[in-house]
Amino acid sequence: MNAATNIAGNVAGNASNSAANAAAEAASHDHRRLGRELDLFDTDPLMGSGLPYWLPDGAAIRHTLEEFVRGRERRAGYRHVYSPVLGKRELYEISGHWAHYREDMFPPMDLGSEQVVLRPSLCPHHALIYRSRARSYRELPLRMAELGGMYRSELSGVLGGLTRVRAIQLNDAHVFCTPEQAADEAVAALELIREAHRALGIRPVRYRLSLPGAGGKYVADPALWERATALLTDVLERSGVPFEAVEGEAAFYGPKIDVQIADAAGRESTLSTVQIDFHQPERFGLQYVGPDGAKHRPVMVHRSVIGSVERVVAHLIELYGGAFPAWLAPTQLVLLPLSEAEAAQAERLRQRCLDRGLRVEVAGPERGSLGARIREARLVPYQAVIGPREAVDDRVALRLRDGRRLDPLPAEEALAGIGALVDACSAELWDGGPAGAGAAG
Ligand SMILES: [Zn+2]
Repeated sequence: MNAATNIAGNVAGNASNSAANAAAEAASHDHRRLGRELDLFDTDPLMGSGLPYWLPDGAAIRHTLEEFVRGRERRAGYRHVYSPVLGKRELYEISGHWAHYREDMFPPMDLGSEQVVLRPSLCPHHALIYRSRARSYRELPLRMAELGGMYRSELSGVLGGLTRVRAIQLNDAHVFCTPEQAADEAVAALELIREAHRALGIRPVRYRLSLPGAGGKYVADPALWERATALLTDVLERSGVPFEAVEGEAAFYGPKIDVQIADAAGRESTLSTVQIDFHQPERFGLQYVGPDGAKHRPVMVHRSVIGSVERVVAHLIELYGGAFPAWLAPTQLVLLPLSEAEAAQAERLRQRCLDRGLRVEVAGPERGSLGARIREARLVPYQAVIGPREAVDDRVALRLRDGRRLDPLPAEEALAGIGALVDACSAELWDGGPAGAGAAG
């Protein structure tokens, strides 16, 4: 009893301290602040609020992430398409966006006798691509992926950084499948999401089964909602993840599984999602020819593995405080020639790094003392010091971001070691072994 009271007292006493610490910690990890400090992205009033641009270091992270997710998708049987960011107003009237989602869309633009709209989602375009050819059950499940632009007319008051933007680059895909395949496809999509999160170090705060709420926001077809909800509940149970059902968070066309993350200040948002949709296949009259030779209606499984690149990069910036895993880091390796005498060797080594696909920089003596250059590069995973002996022997003395120092080793071996960890999207900076055996702090 006493012990319990003491513990409770200690916890209460620490709470105000830790709240203040947490607030300071959250502010220092705010992605908007870090994004500017680290030269990742910015905005300009003339481009408009909610329309950030990406600087070279931010673009390097984004490009790496995009290729990462495309690679995972290819392995999971997806094929990628490109489709335009504009569509005719009629397209969104058919999809239901015009009736149920118009407040979030940009106003249509008059173009001669027709109106075009910046698209609020990629689904209608993918439905048209599906519909453009006759489809057989043998082609299903047909997994169509695109990392594409979509637009949301957010009010300027809520915009900031990368989390509330008007131009969104979405990692999206639609699986067209038979009703019997839908649950397996959704389970596989959820597994793809969980694997990608593990690789990125992302820990979701919860899984949410998002159901419709009151109001006329949702398409009316109780039987289809019930069927889709039962399927998604089954998917969550089969995947073995704890989840909670929340009303009022569904898409207008169907329920969804939302994978929720929290930012440095504890605010929750949806990163990844899996949805089962009977509505849009109906609206677009999608068909496939079954083994019976008759025409059937496919189901659309909508899913996003990493959500929008804006939101996931914002999250990763806060998660790592700028110290990204080597494979994501804008600069992976900085070369530090001790003096002008080693500059030529540093330049040759830089070219070899580039040839290997590594993102590399040379910080020469003109940028200050070795200590100052090391401090400046403290977020870079690898720092390679090149002294007179290393220059002659084609060796480097590697310092890792976590403070470890490796004995000088052949440059080729160092680059191969870094390259292997980068290719594996490893969270480790060095995998020990003989090269790391002599490491000293
Ligand atoms: Zn969709």
